[in-house]
Parts: sequence; structure tokens; C-alpha cells
Amino acid sequence: MTFLKLGIIGQPLTHSLSPLLHAQLMHLLQREGEYRKYELQPSELTSALTEMAKEGVRGLNVTIPHKVAVMKQMQWLSPEAELAGAVNTIVFAENGKHWKGYNTDITGFMRSLPDAVLDQLPNSNLIILGGGGSARAVITGLIQAKAASITIAVRNPVKAISLTSDGEMVKQAYRSPTQLNLVSLASLPNLSAFQGLINTTPIGMYPDVMHSPLSITQLETLPKGAWVYDLIYRPIETQLLNDATHLGLAKFNGLDMLLYQGVCAFELWSEAEVPTALIAPLRQQLQQGLMQQSEP
Ligand code: NAP
Repeated sequence: MTFLKLGIIGQPLTHSLSPLLHAQLMHLLQREGEYRKYELQPSELTSALTEMAKEGVRGLNVTIPHKVAVMKQMQWLSPEAELAGAVNTIVFAENGKHWKGYNTDITGFMRSLPDAVLDQLPNSNLIILGGGGSARAVITGLIQAKAASITIAVRNPVKAISLTSDGEMVKQAYRSPTQLNLVSLASLPNLSAFQGLINTTPIGMYPDVMHSPLSITQLETLPKGAWVYDLIYRPIETQLLNDATHLGLAKFNGLDMLLYQGVCAFELWSEAEVPTALIAPLRQQLQQGLMQQSEP
């Protein structure tokens, strides 16, 4: 079997858990390979990708700030990446001659949702905080799953107008009835109409762990039985999730999305399925990796 040359491009990459995840995947699947971090400035992108493709790199994860910029470099985009307007996984196919862009954040997010939540999506009104790259992936997945409605709350609705127009294209592509609304984060309505709330802003992420995108007073207007999902996984329990716990709401952190987007990327690179039995040990490794990083 060929040696798998893999890596991640982004800036900064100091705390990325992807090297740990992919080292574990190679170990558990007995694949020989390496996973390297490439800290790149936007101006270095084209030359670096060309060099990597020549050197036999098979695939890359793409993170902030390159997820949109790499799209233009690809010779082929998966329909999901095109619709979401972002690429988080590159496959260098045909010995580096054919560059393919995917978005595994969409599948990663959707696979992280428990069946009870997935089953109820067609009857659920959801609110998403933030409108960046990860919000686009989340919105695309939820439209595909035919959620009843998605309200996107952003700090600058004028700047974010393309979210709803792009969302309309996703709706058409998947013949989805999902209603889309764009509102200002500063003038959020009472949340009693929503069955699920998803934070895609970085508010509350390490080191700003005392912050939350919503006050507990706002959060408590969610109805009984509602769930709160924070895409952040560092810390594992953000202030938002802590408040949700106090209010007796169901809560999910971003660790499983990270895990599943990585598993999907690895499946694309290795052209092999990752057995479900490996998910639990991989999750445990990621949790341990997070704990080790937070030690002084
Ligand atoms: P991004 O593209 O930079 O988008 C961030 C969004 O949050 C933008 O809409 C931004 O608004 C908004 N925002 C930032 N600071 C804000 C503030 N103080 N008040 C209000 N809105 C604010 O980033 P991203 O890639 O979507 O990532 C966002 C978060 O998701 C990060 O914490 C990241 O770690 C996490 N994430 C997790 C996973 C996972 O696998 N669990 C995957 C991807 C991302 P403007 O557009 O106005 O700046």
C-alpha cells in the first residue's frame, strides 16, 4: 500500500487536533503515512499547493483562513463544497494532476447529531448564531435534511446577505422547503419559537472562556426540550453549554463534528471506510489530547 502523505494548511495551527486524529486513524487502520502541519500565509497558497502536489501529497485539510480561497485553485468541487462556498478537504488525485475540493464539515456536523434530533428536523425551527464558513456548512446540511426553518443571527446582516441567497440555491438543489431568515444578533427575538440553537461564532472559545454569545436570560426563553449545540470544542464545555446545563437543556459540543469531518476526509484520501467500531477509541484520544493541551 502506498505511503499516505497528508497534512493541514492554515494559520495558526498550534492547537490543531487534526494531526493527533489522523495519526490515530493511520495507526488503527495500519496505514503507513505522515500528517504534517503547513502554516501558510494566503499569498503562499498557490505555490505551496503546487509544490505539495508535485511531492506526492495525497490530501490536505484546510482551515482558517484558507477555506474559501482554495476553492479557486481546485479543478473539481464536490456539489456540497460548491453549495457551501467553502472547501475543508483537498484530494490530489491522479498523482497530483487533478485537484479536488470537498467540504466534510457538512457531513461531520450532520453525523454528529443524535438520531432523536435528526428525526425531528423537519418539524424544527432552528437558530444559528454567526454566518462564517462553518455556518455555511451547518446551514447546507440542515437544508439537505429539510429542517422546517433556519434563522441566521449575525452581527452585520447587510454583509451576510449572500447567506440567504446561497441558501436558496441549496434549497433548490435539494428541493427543500426550509424557510430561511436573516436577523441581527443585537436584536434577537425571544427564543421561544426555536427547538434548537447552534453557535458557530468563536465567542467562548479558549482563551475567552468566560464569554457567551447569549446571556442566560436570553437562553432561558428557549422552550423546554430544546437543544443547544456549540461548534467550539476548546473548552469542551463553553459558557453557553454551561448555561444550557443549568437550564436543563440538551447540549452538544463540537468534538464529534471535528471527529466525523476528519473521518470523512480520511476516507476520501485512503479510499477505505473507517469502521464504526473505531469511533469510540478515536473520540477518547481526542478528549485526552484536549486535556493534555489544557495542562500548563
Ligand atoms: P469564521 O468563518 O471566521 O466565522 C465566524 C463567524 O462568527 C462570522 O460570522 C463572524 O462575524 C462571527 N463572529 C466572530 N466574532 C464575533 C463576535 N464577537 N460577535 C458576533 N459575531 C462574531 O469562522 P468559522 O470557520 O465559521 O469558525 C467559527 C467557530 O466554529 C470557531 O470557534 C471554530 O473553532 C468552530 N468550528 C468548529 C468545527 C468543528 O469541527 N467542531 C469546525 C469548524 C469551525 P463577521 O462575519 O461579522 O466577522
